[in-house]
Amino acid sequence: MNSKFHARAIALLVVLLSAGMLAGEKADKKGDKKDDKVEVKVFVTKSGTKYHVQGCKFVDKDSTAIPLADTKGKYEPCAVCKPDATVYTTKTGAKFHMKTCTHAGKDPLAMSLAEARSRDLEACKVCNPPDGK
Ligand SMILES: [Zn+2]
Ligand SMILES: [Zn+2]
Repeated sequence: MNSKFHARAIALLVVLLSAGMLAGEKADKKGDKKDDKVEVKVFVTKSGTKYHVQGCKFVDKDSTAIPLADTKGKYEPCAVCKPDATVYTTKTGAKFHMKTCTHAGKDPLAMSLAEARSRDLEACKVCNPPDGK
């Protein structure tokens, strides 16, 4: 008797746990949708006329982060860190790639380097895309 009860209790526990996991997965997917609208920030220096991605040698502690949209007509993309360079990423990946990289997947998502960096993505170590450094 006692062991039967035990088995039922365990079965119930398993059901509850997997239901909890499913709920967690759904919550994660919602979070991903929010991330699609990340604000793209670039860096400008006090006297400069170019905008940069974080990590560029021209970005110092006096640089300010501004939305990419605010650079139009005022700033040019830096020729060293290339914030307007096109890089590719997958929907779920944490890295960005060159279009030809095998890790970029079948249907890579094109975005500017500035956007990839604003999403906290890392440069792939296999294809070495421009990473602003
Ligand atoms: Zn730069
Ligand atoms: Zn790659």
